[in-house]
Amino acid sequence: MGEHPTTAEIDLQALDQNLAQAVFCARGRPILGVVKANAYGHGALPLARRLSIRGVQMLGVAFLNEGIELREGGITLPVLLLAGCFREEVAEVFEHRLIPVVYDQSVVEALGRVASSRGGVCPVHVKADTGMGRIGLREKEILSFVERAAATMGIRVEGVLSHFSEADIEDRSSASEQIRRMREIRQGLMDRGIQIPFYHMANSAAVMDLPAAHLDLVRPGLMLYGYSPFEKRSPLALRPILGWFTRISALKRVPAGTPISYGRTFVTQRESLIATVPIGYADGYPRSLSNRGEMIVRGIRVPVVGRVCMDMLMLDVTEVPGLSAHERVTVLGEDGGESIFADELARRSGTIPYEILCGIGRRVARYYRDPGEGTAGSKGG
Ligand SMILES: *Cc1c(COP(=O)(O)O)cnc(C)c1O
Repeated sequence: MGEHPTTAEIDLQALDQNLAQAVFCARGRPILGVVKANAYGHGALPLARRLSIRGVQMLGVAFLNEGIELREGGITLPVLLLAGCFREEVAEVFEHRLIPVVYDQSVVEALGRVASSRGGVCPVHVKADTGMGRIGLREKEILSFVERAAATMGIRVEGVLSHFSEADIEDRSSASEQIRRMREIRQGLMDRGIQIPFYHMANSAAVMDLPAAHLDLVRPGLMLYGYSPFEKRSPLALRPILGWFTRISALKRVPAGTPISYGRTFVTQRESLIATVPIGYADGYPRSLSNRGEMIVRGIRVPVVGRVCMDMLMLDVTEVPGLSAHERVTVLGEDGGESIFADELARRSGTIPYEILCGIGRRVARYYRDPGEGTAGSKGG
């Protein structure tokens, strides 16, 4: 009642299986489960809870407010703020026992003051820019930065991390160069007698296909949600954990020559059965899929016709026999023998699965399923 007709169902058992793949690839190294951006659109808290009870050692979010959300939801695991924090946020970072990624001297000093004034110590992970050109210290500066941070009252340097710019392509030369720089940094710090428990740089692509980057800890995100960052199919048995569903809100038969939706970009070529579904770009269905997307109805793929609107779009369901209004439509997932997943949607709309998943709108209600609950060993279909 009063519930949005477009919903997402998240299969927590599939999440477990994807996590097991990451553990297998990383040969038992600690896992930092990346749950930034509302766990890539899947819902940060339910996923963080599940990953916690399944033995993940740390969680990663991008920003302070995301970390606070986890703490307020009762998550007790170490939580890394991957995008760092601003100076004025350090008190809250410390109070919520969050671990910031740092790369700015003034932030380290402010954190150290807050922590030591309260008789505590704040762990930090220092970011190295080994080739991404985003946040982090370049090789020339990082050794002295870490040395200084390690000597700062109230600060404990628990990790040094870096991030790949292209671990997801065939050509490994730039990734290898980044690994080489990271090893050099590690050697440099060891030579200075600085012991740091966690050096880490492996995102999903590196977890899956670049063992030299596994170091002390790995940071998978996308693969936990069941997708491979690679264009080619992965040999791993990853399973997308999110299904996205809507239902037919109107069904009408129209004659040939009928224009459909804004701008009349589609005109029926024959007598057609047109279904309207209550999902639009406000739900995260890309407008660029106007006249390009497909959905599944009764196990049959049907095309999106006309422009995707904010709250609705139209499907040509002429080929689906015996259809009635209010029937379920699969946007992402499997139905009958057919399946559509976020990588296909991404390809069709010129983006990456990350953006499709993160874009699933706030008004889409998320449901969490645990097919194995109480029936140990039952197999998910
Ligand atoms: C998002 C992110 C990850 C996870 O990347 P995936 O490609 O989703 O595995 C790892 N590390 C950092 C720093 C990130 O920002």
